[in-house]
Amino acid sequence: TPTVGVLALQGDVREHTAALQAAGAQVRPVRRPEELDGVDGLVIPGGESTTMSKLAVAFGLLEPLRARIRAGLPAYGSCAGMIMLADKILDGRDDQETIGGIDMTVRRNAFGRQNESFEAAVEIAGIEGGPCEGVFIRAPWVESVGAGVEVLARLQDETIVAVRQGNLLATSFHPELTGDHRVHGLFADMVRRTL
Ligand code: GLN
Repeated sequence: TPTVGVLALQGDVREHTAALQAAGAQVRPVRRPEELDGVDGLVIPGGESTTMSKLAVAFGLLEPLRARIRAGLPAYGSCAGMIMLADKILDGRDDQETIGGIDMTVRRNAFGRQNESFEAAVEIAGIEGGPCEGVFIRAPWVESVGAGVEVLARLQDETIVAVRQGNLLATSFHPELTGDHRVHGLFADMVRRTL
């Protein structure tokens, strides 16, 4: 059984914990650098990336997170978590840090005011059984990706909303809010393959 940490500084930690447990993982909250040591994978939840970034710096977690991810730790970020895994962000706050790891540029709050929140069916490469219900809440989109990044899903055949690069996975939307655990299942499989 893989042990998956959930970065528990801020955001929808409880929902990711439940989804990961349903996908067969053992789950631990991660708030301190030492808590990173025992995990085989890490989920970075949805929430508010500017706050998460500040807290990661304040808790001395930013550099340890960067180091573990550089060393190959599998990670999955939803929404704010996607922003945290982006090498570059647009419309971030001036002092906003990301962990990075995925060679992509992500635009925060990209869907704009009218569409701050919406749902859409999302077909995800590598996930069988029909589209997932995509819940987008002041969501980012992926503006561009480098050559090593696999695009897993687009909205209207256009806007990139799910990507994978090696052991790193990110979605603009929140599968943890839907009761459909297929994305967490995909991530748990990615983690299992590294054990
Ligand atoms: N808008 C948030 C941010 O920029 C992300 C929203 C979310 O995670 N639902 O961090």
